[in-house]
Amino acid sequence: MRAPKPLAAGNWKMNGLKASSSEIADLAARLKAAPAGCDVLICPPFTLVASLADAAAGTSVAIGAQDCHAKASGAHTGDVSAPMLADSGASFVIVGHSERRADHGETDADVAAKAAAVQAAGLPVIICVGETEAERVAGREVEIVSGQLAGSIPADIDTDRLVIAYEPVWAIGTGRTPSAADVEAIHGAIREKLVARFGAAAGSMIRILYGGSVKPDNAKELMSVANVNGALVGGASLKAADFDAIIGAWR
Ligand code: PGA
Repeated sequence: MRAPKPLAAGNWKMNGLKASSSEIADLAARLKAAPAGCDVLICPPFTLVASLADAAAGTSVAIGAQDCHAKASGAHTGDVSAPMLADSGASFVIVGHSERRADHGETDADVAAKAAAVQAAGLPVIICVGETEAERVAGREVEIVSGQLAGSIPADIDTDRLVIAYEPVWAIGTGRTPSAADVEAIHGAIREKLVARFGAAAGSMIRILYGGSVKPDNAKELMSVANVNGALVGGASLKAADFDAIIGAWR
């Protein structure tokens, strides 16, 4: 059976200055010296998208963004649209990260509108889902994630340009991760939902990333779990050496 090509995605969050382009050059050099069997993406803050896209041109590192507005243009002070990101050289946009949902009150409907805007701008989208610790303790993770998937994936999605990132909120930035068995269970449930909605052919080719405290020392185990088709990495993506060590899971 065909399987999706893995994606190693770095989410720099609100970190990075102009000098950070040296990390992109370092990462590109490491990938050139030791190619990996995965796609590689770094999502810096908006301020660096254009310059890092230039710095990464011609390398195997793609540059993306962490969020966008749902509209293409207009009177929205401080916001950035998907066409602007495409114009800046972004080749992916993350939407619905739990920090956006928590800090900015983004709902599933908001996330779906943003995801549609990303695809309308011609780009692939990474839609994030994941339960809180209280929801996990209550045994509600499948219910919560299923609801987020149903509400956050817009009706007219192009599944060839859709990536799902499962990120349990309690694992983000905490150094804690679910067990391999728990990851297998929830990724399997997500796969079932995708196949039920989009059919076996399309649903089985949508990449499902795991995110939340992925580090060099746990990447190989987490990335070998069934239906884990890559990683969304926060803290450990800031340094090229660490991110490259995670990418080593596909060497
Ligand atoms: P972390 O963040 O790897 O620092 O836990 C992951 C994320 O929020 O995407």
